[in-house]
Amino acid sequence: MKERLEKLLPLVETPARYTGNEVNSIKKSINEGTIRFCMGFPDVYEVGMSHLGIKILYSMLNDREDVYCERVFAPWTDMEDLMRENEIPLFSLETQTPVSEFDFVGFTLQYEMSYTNILNMLDLAGVQIFAKDRDERSPLIIFGGPCAYNPEPIAEFADMVIIGEGEEVLSELMDLYSTHKNNYNRKSFLKAAARIQGVYVPEFYKAEYNDDGTLKRFDAVEAEVPEMIKKRFVKDLDNIYYPDNFVVPYIEIVHDRSLLELFRGCTRGCRFCQAGMIYRPLREKSLETLKKDADALIESTGYEEISLSSLSTMDYTCLPELTDYLMEKYAEKRIAVGLPSLRIDSFSIQTAEKIQQVRKTGLTFAPEAGTQRMRDVINKGVTEEDLISSVSEAFDLGWGHVKLYFMIGLPTETMEDVDGIAKLGYKVLDKYFETKSEKKNKKIKVVVSTSSFVPKAFTPFQWVRQDTIEEITEKQRYLIDNMRSKMINYSWHDPKVSYLEGVFARGDRKLAKVLYSAFKKGCKFDGSKEHFNYEKWLEAFKEEGIDPDFYTARERSVDELFPWDFIDMGVTKAFLAKEYQKALQGKLTGFCKFKCENCGFNEFEEGWKCHVYSKSQV
Ligand code: SF4
Repeated sequence: MKERLEKLLPLVETPARYTGNEVNSIKKSINEGTIRFCMGFPDVYEVGMSHLGIKILYSMLNDREDVYCERVFAPWTDMEDLMRENEIPLFSLETQTPVSEFDFVGFTLQYEMSYTNILNMLDLAGVQIFAKDRDERSPLIIFGGPCAYNPEPIAEFADMVIIGEGEEVLSELMDLYSTHKNNYNRKSFLKAAARIQGVYVPEFYKAEYNDDGTLKRFDAVEAEVPEMIKKRFVKDLDNIYYPDNFVVPYIEIVHDRSLLELFRGCTRGCRFCQAGMIYRPLREKSLETLKKDADALIESTGYEEISLSSLSTMDYTCLPELTDYLMEKYAEKRIAVGLPSLRIDSFSIQTAEKIQQVRKTGLTFAPEAGTQRMRDVINKGVTEEDLISSVSEAFDLGWGHVKLYFMIGLPTETMEDVDGIAKLGYKVLDKYFETKSEKKNKKIKVVVSTSSFVPKAFTPFQWVRQDTIEEITEKQRYLIDNMRSKMINYSWHDPKVSYLEGVFARGDRKLAKVLYSAFKKGCKFDGSKEHFNYEKWLEAFKEEGIDPDFYTARERSVDELFPWDFIDMGVTKAFLAKEYQKALQGKLTGFCKFKCENCGFNEFEEGWKCHVYSKSQV
């Protein structure tokens, strides 16, 4: 395989995507008893290698003597064409082993528009695409990640789906497999796996539909498997595996830096945000653990930037102490500390000012909506005054590049709310011109970016109708027409991609045939402008007799049974329904870090009670 590959590499763009051998990549000897796991990411190397979850699980699995975990990414189309022409199957980066020879192949589902890449990768690997066609010699295909919380559209392609955080489940699965490996029988292994909390084996469940297409019932059809799949979450992040090194690629990747995970969960309760609901409860790492993790990563990777990564990093209780530690120890060595988008308050600006001594990059704010009414509907809990006083402070301190993130198409949105986005862009610009500070930056750029709201499973907006492509296009046109200043850059998302994302985000098992048909027509890399082909998708829906509007254009009744209702993710449907009603009334729900809002998590699992912080701790 190696020699055949070497002949192809000079012919493709970015050969380092396919060579492996990076610093800290793992080489192991393989023997009869080795469990071989191929960690797949359904996008190109540069995107996949930026993903923190893959880094954690790759190192964690390789920490076990009996497992060898390798990696595989989606080959870009130039490489895929050559591989198909030369009959080279999809192979792992570490040992160039055909993916079909592994015991397990895992894929993380980060984005609905990567589903066709998974089918394409299975096909390129020579692995049967539908789980029902696999046999004793086929690898076990596992899916996990945020989109797995509604696994139904891809259920027919999976042998197992992990619901929740992967660390403990994967360890238990490996333990189980080692007891089955010598006398392996696919069905008995899957039956035993289905009893591990957090493991869903789709072939043991059956969906039945009403005449109108909605779900009638969803039942376990195999004895001794649970009726409800309960998510897994790690209770103590200080005592869970975290890598002390990361593989360092030879080429520039999307997030080319070390990533330090501060906490999991987010308790702000933004109603549009799936991550904020499915990753509950809040679990922070201690300051001591983070200092140790940061030191090890900086030492082993040689990266010049360490990014503080979490859903809402500025909410970390010990952030000032952590940033002080990192700056004192590493600023002289020119190691920068990166922050993702900021919560809008002056504390954030002061922290940004402190840590950007090494390198001053732009500031990103996410007000999400243009009017206070709309921000209250989505429970954003920030005001226009917060934003304006923060940008004013940022301009005073010398920033000139400010990014503002918004969503359009939110439930109850009117053109007045859309207009609020343009107005806010101009108010930020006005603030720059009012700035008298000596440090004022000579260059100003305000980037306004809108994404189109896609209702997701397990959020208070899981019942709502999604805006049509035409409605979103009209709102985007309005913003283009009303933000013509050269100092404001406006960028937006393709509404057709958001529409399809919406179909699969709340889809059911009937969509498997559409996905398969779209893949057969050549759909792949659907998130990239270069490859997205909406016409082919429409053909696939038509040929399979499925109306995509059924999934997006329908306001659901409060008692509708959803395809994902068999998953118990901790936050109850009743809580989500209550939040939906509060949204319609424009009522806010507080930050549950300080006062429990009874989302259901405290009753979810024995031995778990959320820690409620006092405000003086922050
Ligand atoms: S149980 Fe209470 S504190 Fe815990 S995540 Fe839910 S609302 Fe927040």
